[in-house]
Amino acid sequence: IDTSLTGRVAVVTGASSGIGAATAQRLAAEGAKVALLARREDRLTELVAKITADGGTAIAVGADVTDQDTLDRALATVHEAYGPVDLLVNNAGVMLPAPIQDGRIDEWRRMIDLNVIGLLAAFRTFTPDLLAAAEAGRTADVVNISSIGAWMAFPAYSVYGATKAAVSTFSQQVRADLGPKNVRVTNIEPGLTASELTQHISSGELQGQVDGMFDAIEALTSQDIADVVAYATSRARRLNLPSIVAMPTQQA
Ligand code: NDP
Repeated sequence: IDTSLTGRVAVVTGASSGIGAATAQRLAAEGAKVALLARREDRLTELVAKITADGGTAIAVGADVTDQDTLDRALATVHEAYGPVDLLVNNAGVMLPAPIQDGRIDEWRRMIDLNVIGLLAAFRTFTPDLLAAAEAGRTADVVNISSIGAWMAFPAYSVYGATKAAVSTFSQQVRADLGPKNVRVTNIEPGLTASELTQHISSGELQGQVDGMFDAIEALTSQDIADVVAYATSRARRLNLPSIVAMPTQQA
């Protein structure tokens, strides 16, 4: 175990797979106590066992970030286990591309509810802890996982991109609220990254298109993004990296 995050108490949303799972593992490997939040508790429990076997400290907390009651319960559970939170990784998200003329308002709602409202709900739940930690002189971080889709255009991805643009703009603007109070805000925009994200795509054709991208270029691993999160959150507290684009070298 590295010690660069020793003493930190972290919450990672969407920690049951992909980038969130890798991030939880990495933060624990650097010495943080980590609460893993997601809906699939069996997956969280498995990962906690792995982290613990590797000498880390973690708990599984079943939570749906679109449901404030489960977030409130998660806050209480984390307080009881580890005390106040000083590192929040807002990672839970879903990507549902579809031809725009299909007008899939059901999928649009799911993306907006999770990627935007869910992120804000987790933010409001844990921010009082972050402000208190900073006020007490400790390092405090919010890391939001946005996407290059926030500014790069791909056909069928405009609504997903719009939800991620909301995340990037929120991140940039909320620094004006939190920065002066010594809470860092870091927005990360990953490019193509191997995870379970594409498994939720309803159109076979668009699913095939994404699979083709993974065949064409060497994508990032979830661990690559975890590495960026660990780097940004382990700097001296006066140094904030507000915006990071993390691209596969071959994705242009
Ligand atoms: P995954 O599908 O592997 O992970 C998504 C995670 O979100 C899962 O752990 C899932 O857990 C969780 N989640 C979904 N719904 C909820 C909910 N209502 N409450 C709590 N957790 C929820 O994909 P990624 O790891 O790729 O995605 C992570 C983030 O990275 C997303 O925000 C995505 O938009 C972003 N991203 C990914 C890129 C990529 O190429 N992979 C590129 C750019 C950004 P569960 O189902 O158990 O709740």
